[in-house]
Amino acid sequence: MESLSIIIPVYNEQDTLTECVNRVLEVEVPLKKELILVNDASTDNSAKVIETICQDNPDVPIQVITHKINQGKGAALRSGFAKVNTDIAIIQDGDLEYDPNDYNKLLKPILEGKADIVYGSRFVGSDEKRVLFYWHSVGNKFLTTLSNMCTNLNLTDMETCYKVMKKEVLERLDIKCERFGVEPEMTAKFAKAGWRIYEVGISYNGRTYAEGKKITWKDGVKALLTIIRFRFTD
Ligand code: UDP
Ligand code: MG
Repeated sequence: MESLSIIIPVYNEQDTLTECVNRVLEVEVPLKKELILVNDASTDNSAKVIETICQDNPDVPIQVITHKINQGKGAALRSGFAKVNTDIAIIQDGDLEYDPNDYNKLLKPILEGKADIVYGSRFVGSDEKRVLFYWHSVGNKFLTTLSNMCTNLNLTDMETCYKVMKKEVLERLDIKCERFGVEPEMTAKFAKAGWRIYEVGISYNGRTYAEGKKITWKDGVKALLTIIRFRFTD
């Protein structure tokens, strides 16, 4: 049986991480699951929560990586990717915005041998989506369009957390952006490498800032600069 690494970057996710991991472990996929939890120097109780998760799931292979200082999602993914030794890897945010029940849909194009990479799009398909933050969706679509113009890909959701990749893809990926710029960076590098990319519609349960959302308009500006930067550099 092939195997799947689920990489969860964790920065202050004490309220959602346990439920998130339970949902990941509950979903049935035709792959052996391994978890890679990257604690990006959380200042809340996430470290303790991670410890409890490991104790409560002794038969699940779980690797825990702990950053001494907070470095951002990109850095957390870089640390996590370095530990992948499975055939396929998926990124899972530690909140409950994305639903692991979408895993089979996301994995299908790779398991059928058609894709090297699959993106889960919050902007296509009939799956349920929380209605929230119009201006975020405008920003997302703008960044996706700009990214598409630079990569000549026709993605509908470049910023999605759900990116599934074969091991070969990760082996050739060198992440430089430490924070949320990692999404356009990965996309630019995937496009440049010529990997076969698929997209599937996913459900989305967006959260508010009170519920723990961290991304702000400043990250949008940085994403914009990242897109332009990777258009003109290697
Ligand atoms: N994250 C991280 N380090 C950071 C900021 C965020 O590891 O400095 C993680 C966070 O815990 C989550 C993911 O990156 O699992 C995405 O963050 P968040 O959900 O806040 O982003 P948003 O939903 O606002 O895009
Ligand atoms: Mg989130």
